[in-house]
Amino acid sequence: MSWENFVRRVVPYTPGEQPKESGIIKLNTNENPYPPAPGVQKILDEFRISDMRLYPDPDAGILIQAIAETYQVKPEQVFVGVGSDDVISMAFLTFFNSAKPILFPDVTYSFYDVWADVYHIPYQRVRLTEDFRINPEDYKIPNGGIIFPNPNAPTGVLESLELIEEILKANPDSVVMIDEAYIDFGGISCLPLLEKYENLLVIQTYSKSRSMAGMRIGFAIGNQKLIKYLNDVKFSVNSYTMNRLTLLCGAEALKDPAYFENCTGKIIETREDTKKKLAELGFVFPDSKSNFIFASHPDYDAGMIFEKLKARKIFVRYWNKPRINQYLRITVGTPEEMKQLFTALQEILIEDES
Ligand SMILES: *Cc1c(COP(=O)(O)O)cnc(C)c1O
Repeated sequence: MSWENFVRRVVPYTPGEQPKESGIIKLNTNENPYPPAPGVQKILDEFRISDMRLYPDPDAGILIQAIAETYQVKPEQVFVGVGSDDVISMAFLTFFNSAKPILFPDVTYSFYDVWADVYHIPYQRVRLTEDFRINPEDYKIPNGGIIFPNPNAPTGVLESLELIEEILKANPDSVVMIDEAYIDFGGISCLPLLEKYENLLVIQTYSKSRSMAGMRIGFAIGNQKLIKYLNDVKFSVNSYTMNRLTLLCGAEALKDPAYFENCTGKIIETREDTKKKLAELGFVFPDSKSNFIFASHPDYDAGMIFEKLKARKIFVRYWNKPRINQYLRITVGTPEEMKQLFTALQEILIEDES
């Protein structure tokens, strides 16, 4: 016997690489290529070290208020955390306590099974169809909860509100979490369904569409009761998850909807252009409504392309996992970055032929 018999053993989530070197083109973790709203810079400039002396507001009031106004819900319907990873982790701990397995797709965000493991939550991976779609029938089985991203990651596939509603309808006894990390790139949020379903939790993040991955802000919107339970757990783990500067920047970022629309609009435009160029090179991919494209080439090995891009200082994401080991997940960057990606891809495909 040793203390090691009593360790909570987990295989941790592997985040995408954050290379330290300069001069690379980083298309591997779905960050936004544009800076956050300019008002955020002003907050940073005006922040004083003396402001750090006191604890932040444990209720994260100004951020919650700003989110509630933006999404036209009550402040009591909003929960915030250190990135949506923190929010989802708290939500697993709060709501997934059944002996029945929770359900999520077999091809999805690779953090879900890690949280399930760390909290000892039983889970079942539900196979997506051949074209990476969710079949709602598969979610009409006994379960302890449901979560999936919409659009899904890493596929970029967007499902309809009708499909989400069908799953909600069939599961009044489970909390259904929709992870809308990428909803701002042309998807339709399921927030309106909150009026009808008290078991729905909608999760969003500042990391992608609001260009603030480095600041760590995520939030959940749901029925007041759900949010109350989430806060009870949060206040039992760490009351001060959101620091003072983050609260201010997070509230400020929402005050410039025109800037936000412009940024997401540019990314959508570049994404559509990227689809055309990838298709010209012979790549195939499910239609993406996110800020990345999940592409495969029928004639070239994805692992090979990944390595050769990396050698050219272009980072994309590759998983050597069943079903997806012939795909690359390519984040949509600036038009200039995409141009360099295409030049590199053209060279790599020609090289491999000769
Ligand atoms: C990026 C991402 C998140 C987490 O983002 P945070 O940076 O923690 O807010 C959650 N879910 C999905 C599907 C993501 O791709």
